[in-house]
Amino acid sequence: MKRDIFTKEHELFREQFRRFAEREIVPKIPEWNQRGMTDKETWKKAGAQGFLGANQPAEYGGAGGDFLFDAIIMEEMADLRAHAMMISLHSDICMPYLTSYGTEEQKQRYLVPAIRGEVILGIAMTEPGAGSDLASIQTRATRRGDHYVLNGTKTFISNGQIADLFIVVAKTNPDARPPHRGISLFLVESSFPGFRRGRKLDKLGLRGQDTSELYFEDCIVPAGN
Ligand SMILES: Cc1cc2nc3c(=O)[nH]c(=O)nc-3n(C[C@H](O)[C@H](O)[C@H](O)COP(=O)(O)OP(=O)(O)OC[C@H]3O[C@@H](n4cnc5c(N)ncnc54)[C@H](O)[C@@H]3O)c2cc1C
Repeated sequence: MKRDIFTKEHELFREQFRRFAEREIVPKIPEWNQRGMTDKETWKKAGAQGFLGANQPAEYGGAGGDFLFDAIIMEEMADLRAHAMMISLHSDICMPYLTSYGTEEQKQRYLVPAIRGEVILGIAMTEPGAGSDLASIQTRATRRGDHYVLNGTKTFISNGQIADLFIVVAKTNPDARPPHRGISLFLVESSFPGFRRGRKLDKLGLRGQDTSELYFEDCIVPAGN
């Protein structure tokens, strides 16, 4: 099908990404499928080549392009059956939360290294008892002085084993009406006390993706996050 939405610049980017993916990603797919996860080195290489956060602002290290650059990456990854490495989750689902809602300090601390591929991102919404009906999540965040204490369980979380930073959805006001008004987002580093990775789930498909359980057991999160 002939498409006229892509410019010469987009097509040049497509060629560059395709070459990168054929060299750095495709040969690793069998190993990733066997291990059930990707590797940090490849994320760093993708970041160093400018393939993460292609539409993020240049001032944070992004390519400052439009969304079509990221769409090209999705198309090429799908064509190469390279679903294990979820660049779209990292760049197109998680990064916009940082760009849109993060403070300048958070952008410097998290967005800049995420674009470099040094910090891998994940988002933790789903729970054993709440998927589509997100308003019924049970994970709680309680303010204690200069931090929040998170308690709850998440499941089906992509990049669950490899990610360094999770955007975690938790209830700060369980009595709020409508219920979604009592929900907040937290930036939880995998090194925070009380954070624990659970099982990597064994799936029929998407074998190279580390879809996982996550546990928050009196997890301490600075109030600024
Ligand atoms: C490979 C994979 C990766 C994932 N990665 C992530 C991730 O990174 N982060 C994350 O937070 N979650 C992730 N998820 C979870 C995903 O977001 C949930 O599976 C999804 O929200 C659906 O929730 P559920 O599985 O509990 O199904 P349910 O919500 O229980 O739905 C089951 C079925 O009922 C239907 N249904 C539900 N409510 C209604 C309604 N009101 N009316 C009619 N039909 C309805 C649904 O369409 C579905 O067919 C992932 C899931 C998979 C499979």
